[in-house]
Amino acid sequence: MSSKSCAKCGRRMEEGFTIDAGDYSMPSVGVWHRGKPHKSFWGLKTVKADKHEIVAWRCTSCGYLENYAP
Ligand SMILES: [Zn+2]
Repeated sequence: MSSKSCAKCGRRMEEGFTIDAGDYSMPSVGVWHRGKPHKSFWGLKTVKADKHEIVAWRCTSCGYLENYAP
């Protein structure tokens, strides 16, 4: 995917990513996780195999975001 056009207005979209920053952690790339969130004492329970980093395309004209988690 090197170029895409917006599903809403047809203009050019640019590739990017979402930033996921916890209270005390360094910023990291936002991830999609399979299933429903399970909270524990330590925070959110996550399974590495069920996580996918999110690629977010943003329309340069209307700002529409399209997310992919390959
Ligand atoms: Zn657009």
